Amino acid sequence: MDIPRIFNITESAHRIHNPITPEKLATLGAALRLQPGAQVLDLGSGSGEMLCTWARDHGVIGTGIDMSPLFTEQAKRRAVELGVADQVRFIHGDAAGYVSDEKACVAACVGATWIGGGVGGTIELLARSLRAGGIILIGEPYWRQFPPTEDVAKGCLANSISDFLKLPELLASFGRLGYDVVEMVLADQDGWDRYEAAKWLTMRCWLEANSDDEFAKEVRAQLASEPERYTTYTREYLGWGVFALMAR
Ligand code: SAH
Repeated sequence: MDIPRIFNITESAHRIHNPITPEKLATLGAALRLQPGAQVLDLGSGSGEMLCTWARDHGVIGTGIDMSPLFTEQAKRRAVELGVADQVRFIHGDAAGYVSDEKACVAACVGATWIGGGVGGTIELLARSLRAGGIILIGEPYWRQFPPTEDVAKGCLANSISDFLKLPELLASFGRLGYDVVEMVLADQDGWDRYEAAKWLTMRCWLEANSDDEFAKEVRAQLASEPERYTTYTREYLGWGVFALMAR
């Protein structure tokens, strides 16, 4: 079981597979007032940076599930590196439908809401692993400005304009699902650059080491086109944030 190979190549050197920076991830951890021993569940945990740094900085314990064997392996290594391997565990698997036995204080899905079939379905899924009074974290894009055409939305790698909302509407949608938005940390364009531009050097290095690979043509094409696509579309139109929710 694995994610499409292109992500395991372009994001192999990423610790955070999203436009949030280490500083903002730390800001979010502090904002949530995490208590030592608090249980955190993370669906689509990537390379585990959120769980590992929050375990180190706040003494939380937790579980991450991710479909990429590579990212899961990196997460386990990071836990050892940060000295928190006895606090966090990382499971390689499909997080769709995953409900934990032990109820979490914080249940998160940061930048992977397709796992629950969208924001609403993911909130429902996370709620099943959450203890009463717990916090749900959703990381999700929103439109900084509406794309003028569907082609511009596609340039942002969205299927259509209707994939995302503008920020106030996204926040309102959480309310309609019965949740208070109790905190948020938003990414900015510098954060987007750390996520997107970091892929380019990784692709270039991969190409130099794997010129005979059958995938090299596709990676070469992406490296040639991504800087212009990203700066024309994603960087201008897409915002991204992590939203903390509590049931009303
Ligand atoms: N939350 C992490 C990773 C976000 S990227 C971070 O912020 O760094 C999206 C992640 O979802 C990737 O690591 C990918 O491997 C994972 N993923 C995609 N589909 C999945 C699924 N069905 N179950 C579990 N993980 C999945």
